[in-house]
Parts: sequence; structure tokens; C-alpha cells
Amino acid sequence: MSQPVIVWFRQDLRLNDNPAFAAAIQSNAPIIPVFVDDTAYGRAAGTTSLWWRNTSLRALAGDLKTRGLTLIYRKGDGLALMRALVEETNAATVFWNRQYEKDTIARDTQLKSWLKENNRNGVGHVGNLFFDPWQIINKNSGSHYKVFSPFWKACLQAGLPCDLSVPPAQLTAPEQWPKSQPLPEASAAPATGMDALWQPGERGALKMLDMFFENSFDGYADNRDTPGGVTTSRLSPHLRWGEISPQRIYASLGEERIDTNDGRKFLSEIGWREFSYYLLYHYPDMPERCLQQKFETFPWRDAPEDLEAWKQGRTGYPIVDAAMRELATTGFMHNRTRMIAASFLTKHLLIDWREGERWFWECLADADPANNAAGWQWTAGCGADAAPYFRIFNPIIQGRKFDPDGTYTKTYAPELANLTGKVIFAPWEASSDTLSDAGISLDVDYPAPIVKHETARARALDVFHAL
Ligand SMILES: Cc1cc2nc3c(=O)[nH]c(=O)nc-3n(C[C@H](O)[C@H](O)[C@H](O)COP(=O)(O)OP(=O)(O)OC[C@H]3O[C@@H](n4cnc5c(N)ncnc54)[C@H](O)[C@@H]3O)c2cc1C
Repeated sequence: MSQPVIVWFRQDLRLNDNPAFAAAIQSNAPIIPVFVDDTAYGRAAGTTSLWWRNTSLRALAGDLKTRGLTLIYRKGDGLALMRALVEETNAATVFWNRQYEKDTIARDTQLKSWLKENNRNGVGHVGNLFFDPWQIINKNSGSHYKVFSPFWKACLQAGLPCDLSVPPAQLTAPEQWPKSQPLPEASAAPATGMDALWQPGERGALKMLDMFFENSFDGYADNRDTPGGVTTSRLSPHLRWGEISPQRIYASLGEERIDTNDGRKFLSEIGWREFSYYLLYHYPDMPERCLQQKFETFPWRDAPEDLEAWKQGRTGYPIVDAAMRELATTGFMHNRTRMIAASFLTKHLLIDWREGERWFWECLADADPANNAAGWQWTAGCGADAAPYFRIFNPIIQGRKFDPDGTYTKTYAPELANLTGKVIFAPWEASSDTLSDAGISLDVDYPAPIVKHETARARALDVFHAL
């Protein structure tokens, strides 16, 4: 039997539309699918995202099994383990879809050189983006883009690729399987509301896309800023672990959807994801360092009690608290409320965006090496193409505008369920009769605000202005 090849699954936990897997199939060699829980390269997943990944791995292993293949799972140093596995199996080629964090790039480069020195091949593919980040260049400056709109225009002009594939029902297994450690145990979801909401794995991703087209696609451009109800696709955790590719999403939009306002808007959001990875590649320190250097000396407050109140959804600002509690109960947060909650932490509380980034990393199912840091830097005002520092979301007005009847806020802050009208978003403005009719004693049933909006806003503007 011919020498086997290895497919190294990483952030691409799917079999369809998987260029690395498709290339291995095309080689006609026996295939050894591998997942390495890499403890040496790449940022370790937070609790919620790790639960997602482990559940998804089981789904992937099941899908491989039906095609006659066994997923080999090993935990440890990714580079060392892959070298050992190649030697052990005498694999001729290792196929993978590229990752773009600086240390994963370094790891893959080293592996590729080592394979070459040993008369073998390492072949990387674009599996989770439309383009490798070095492919899109600003022709005027000869450098990379720093602003989203021209970047996305250049992507569209280059023509979004659509590399789709379906693997055959049976694949060739090696004569002998290498040893595998047991897959991580199935465990209960870390948050109570997660099981009902999510189905990690490729099948769950495709189902989510269908549900989006059926229920929320029409009107997406207008509704996507409304956090109450399901107004967006909720594909982000599936995209994060590569259970579906952006190219599949693009193809599924089809001609009749793509030429609509909703289609263009939705595709441009996938474009924002592409841009985040582009930035991560061009600014490898993005998860730790401000893209605008001057923010590195910003006098962030060390305020552990305020940080804790924010994490627990007890700031006294209902839309912020609802957002943080949505995160705690579902592992997800709507994009509008991510911006409101992040703005509140970095501007009202003047707490370093990295504290917020770390908390989101721990709690989000979609916690993503590129999108999370880019989202935080954008909101804090220190990123590329960022919201200007003087844009300080007013959490009261944001609530009234985007959650007008309080559907979202009351879902996650049910102690406010009996309030109506504008005071839902500023309970301290309600008369004592209104509060007592609603069964609320401020600072007992629901916290009083931990900062006064006007004071916090003025303080933030002063500090940002002095930069
Ligand atoms: C502070 C902050 C932190 C964030 N952290 C993450 C994160 O860790 N992981 C993550 O995937 N997204 C993150 N985002 C971006 C965005 O909030 C989510 O991608 C979006 O809410 C996911 O919901 P959806 O899948 O229903 O989005 P949809 O509106 O249906 O959009 C479709 C897809 O486009 C991409 N997308 C949408 N909006 C953005 C955006 N603003 N930036 C980049 N990509 C986008 C996502 O992959 C999303 O799944 C963050 C945003 C902010 C402001």
C-alpha cells in the first residue's frame, strides 16, 4: 500500500469545502486525520470556546468514522508531535489549512522546512478565509490596507473565490493506525442556556445557515442592530472553529440573495471577519498591543471592583448588564451590545480593553484570535479604522434606540420585567411609586449605577483628549 498522508485539522473542523482535506483525497493516498491539542503554539481556548471545540471534535470524529477514517487526537507541543507522527507513520505529505497567529505561522514554517529536509511535503491552503492576508495589497501605497472599506472593495474586485468540495462516502485508511489519546470527555455546556441554542459541528453550522436564510435573512440590513430576538445568523462560533467556510456561505447566498441590500450587508460582515484576520497577520501583536502606539501610555484605571461589577452584569445600566448576562447564560452576545458593553468598560470605567478582551475570550463560544482583539481595539478607539475616541456610547440612549420595548433587556435582567417605557434603561429616573409598583427597590433588587453617565463621559473625554 502507498505511503499515507496526514491531514492536520486545526481551526477547520469540517469535511466539506475543506481544501486541505480535499487535497489529501486527491492524492489518492491513505489518509490519517489528526487533531493536535497544541499546548505550545496558539492561544489556549477559553472555557466556553474549549467546550465548543471538544464537542465539535466528537462530531468531526463521527463524520470521519462513517467514511472509514479514525481521528487521531494528541495533546502537547504541536510541532514536536507532528514531527513524531510523520516519522511514526512514514507519511509523505502533511496537508493543513493555514492559521494566522504569529506563533502558529512560525510553527507551520518550521514544520514545512523540517518536512522538506526529510524529503516530505508540507502543504498549506487557504481554508478559513477568502484570501491569504498577503494577497490583498493597496496598489497606491504598495502596503497593506488599514481601513475596512477600501480593503473590502479590493477583495470584491479581486473576485471572491468559491472553493467548494464534497468528500466521497468512503476513503482509504492506512494499513495501520497510529495510537490516539482518547478524545476529550463530552462535558456539560459551561452555561445553562447553551444546549438549547447551539449544536457544535459541521451539521449544526449548516443547520444554522439554513435557519438564518429561512428566518432572519430578509430584513437583516435593517434588523441586525436589534439585540432582541434572533436578527443575525449566529454563525460566529461555527466560523471560529471552521465548521463552515466563508466560501460556502458566499456560495449559499446565491445570485438572487447576493444582489440585495441584505445580501451585500451580510457579506460585508463576513468581510469584517476577513479584515480582522488581515489585521492580525499584518499586526501580529494585535491581541496584546494597541495598534495606535500612542494608546500604549493610556492611564487606564486599576479598578477591580468596577471590573467585577461589569463581568457580573451589575453595573446598574440595564443594557450593559443584560449584555453581560447574555454572555454568561448563552456564551454569546449580540454585536450591538458587545459594542455597548465594551464601550462602557473602556470609556465609562476607563478599564484597559485587554481586561475585557480576556473576559470575552473566557466566556464567548466564538472567542476568536482575530475578531475579539479587533472588536475591542475598534471600540476602545486604539485600533485600525477604529471608532474615534470621542464616540462614547450613551448606554441609556443605546438601550432606548436599539431595544425600544426592552425585550432583550428584560430577558436577561428579569428583575426589571415590570418596568415600562424609557425608565427601563434608567431605573434610577423612575419615581419611587413606579419602582415600588414594579417591585424594585434600587440597590436591593437591582444595582444603582456604579458611575454617573455624565461624569464618566466627561472624565473619559478629558483623558482621551490629553493623549
Ligand atoms: C468587543 C467586541 C468583541 C468581539 N469579539 C468577537 C469574537 O471573539 N469572535 C467573533 O467571531 N466576533 C467577535 N466580534 C464581532 C461580532 O460581534 C460577532 O462576530 C457577531 O456578533 C457574531 O454574531 P453573528 O454570527 O450573528 O453575526 P452576523 O451579523 O450574522 O455576521 C455574520 C458573520 O460575520 C462576522 N462578523 C459579523 N460582525 C463582525 C464584526 N464586527 N467583526 C468581525 N466579524 C464580524 C462573524 O464571523 C459573523 O458570524 C466582536 C465585536 C466586538 C465589538
